[in-house]
Amino acid sequence: MSSINSNKKNITILGATGSIGVSTLDVLSRHPNAYNVYALTAHTNVEKLFQQCVAYTPDYAVMVDASCAEQLEAKLKGTVASEVTVLAGTDALETVSSSQDVDYVMAAIVGAAGLLPSLAAANAGKRVLLANKEALVMSGQLFMDAVRDNNAELLPIDSEHNAIFQCMPAQHDLAGVEKILLTGSGGPFRTRDIATLNAVTPEEAVAHPNWDMGQKISVDSATMMNKGLEVIEACWLFDVPHDKIQVVVHPQSTIHSMVSYSDGSVLAQLGHPDMRTPITYSLAWPERIPSGVDQLDFFEVGRLDFEKPNFQRFPCLRLAYEAHQQGGCASIALNAANEIAVAAFLDKKIAFTDIPILIEEVMSKAPSGTPSVLNDILVQDLASREYSELWVQQK
Ligand code: NAD
Ligand code: MG
Repeated sequence: MSSINSNKKNITILGATGSIGVSTLDVLSRHPNAYNVYALTAHTNVEKLFQQCVAYTPDYAVMVDASCAEQLEAKLKGTVASEVTVLAGTDALETVSSSQDVDYVMAAIVGAAGLLPSLAAANAGKRVLLANKEALVMSGQLFMDAVRDNNAELLPIDSEHNAIFQCMPAQHDLAGVEKILLTGSGGPFRTRDIATLNAVTPEEAVAHPNWDMGQKISVDSATMMNKGLEVIEACWLFDVPHDKIQVVVHPQSTIHSMVSYSDGSVLAQLGHPDMRTPITYSLAWPERIPSGVDQLDFFEVGRLDFEKPNFQRFPCLRLAYEAHQQGGCASIALNAANEIAVAAFLDKKIAFTDIPILIEEVMSKAPSGTPSVLNDILVQDLASREYSELWVQQK
């Protein structure tokens, strides 16, 4: 029997088995009378999705990999979750994102794989809780148009963008907004001798000082490509030019970002570095409900430090600004090359310092301009991936 209940908000979690997916389920379990888990999706992690199905009994479970879906279905037989409908394939991701039974979609798949289901949620007019920044970097204008044309609600999950959203004027009228101050910790290599960066290991790169996240975003934080992607993300979300966005290195990750106004005021959002705060804010918006995150103790925080970003140490940050200036094709190339480069680095096929070299090379091959239709975006993404793979092979 379906668990759909009209008094509760029905939620699909794309990427349920990941870091954001798990934090989202933690928040939902604190508010069982307000939210109902409609669908959970995962790529290949059968065991984790199985456990989540048993704990949350969604209506649907989607595994992108067909043989994984078969395994999940077999495991669920005879359990409390035996009535969960298991679907397979990428089309099924779009089905559970756009179903008329769904109210909210947590878009927490990592990388370009999240674009189509996130866009499907926007096209279906859902409340989209967007963690999957790569989708917006690839499709900026198209995505924002889909949100506007279909009366979807777009709530940023990325902690910085969630902070900016909270500090922006009501209605997001930009009059009086001087700058967006996008904070970033600087990652694990903020103070490491630049000459030794070529010897960085994957284990060192994924060990973020403040945040506990998936592998890809952890490497992105170490190169500061994460901040670069976030600059592009902020341009689209808040409709501001890139020169209105100042990256501020803030090693404690206590301030999650700020908005600076023409009267000299600066509004900031602060809190522990715990993604349950932006997740809860976006679920309950415009209300506030408990997230499970402790209150901030300023006596414990003690001090807050700030530095200028070092583009020599973090060339990926420079490349992201350049890509956004060049246009949509360059941003797609930047994102695709970065995904391939990070995977190759984690596989120990290329050095940490090869990541920006590969990205710059792939960006230089991207045509100028911005694709206006989805198919052209996908074609550019594929071309950039193929070129990146070739580059890695020839290393
Ligand atoms: P993760 O690696 O922990 O989880 C990724 C999820 O995506 C998993 O559920 C996995 O099954 C799914 N997935 C992976 N490849 C897939 C594919 N090809 N098709 C379908 N599903 C696939 O990642 P994460 O850290 O949770 O990050 C998810 C997204 O949220 C990323 O875009 C990241 O940049 C963004 N984000 C994460 C954090 C964080 O604290 N983890 C903070 C801000 C933004
Ligand atoms: Mg972030």
